Amino acid sequence: MPIDATLPYDDSNIFARILRGELPAKTVYDDEYALAFHDINPQAPLHILVIPKGAYVSWDDFSERGSDAEIAGFVRAVGRVARDQGLVAPGYRLLANVGPDSHQEVPHLHVHIFAGRPLGPMLA
Ligand code: 5GP
Repeated sequence: MPIDATLPYDDSNIFARILRGELPAKTVYDDEYALAFHDINPQAPLHILVIPKGAYVSWDDFSERGSDAEIAGFVRAVGRVARDQGLVAPGYRLLANVGPDSHQEVPHLHVHIFAGRPLGPMLA
């Protein structure tokens, strides 16, 4: 079910539980600001989710309330994950859904990294 990204943060969401170590994840990167792990239902040969360590519902919430250090740390982590995975030369796609029209399902900000095949033109 798509979520309403204007609601307050609910720390029972699945990614909050992964951050607390209550649920397993196939982690590929972990630092002070970000955790990256494989998507459970990949939509490309490589499909990684990068999430901030802080409690933010969406890109909107993060860009509004996140500290400059958190935002810089998170953005750098997304780039680092892609570089570590060898994705810069072949290329990759970043996506962050916000709210019902985008079909955001998990109410903790996540950036999708899609890669591993030609992804074609972006379709709205
Ligand atoms: P959204 O539609 O919110 O942008 O994307 C949510 C993503 O989280 C989906 O691609 C979905 O497959 C993934 N996902 C949902 N539950 C889990 C889980 O428990 N573990 C992992 N690794 N990914 C999940």
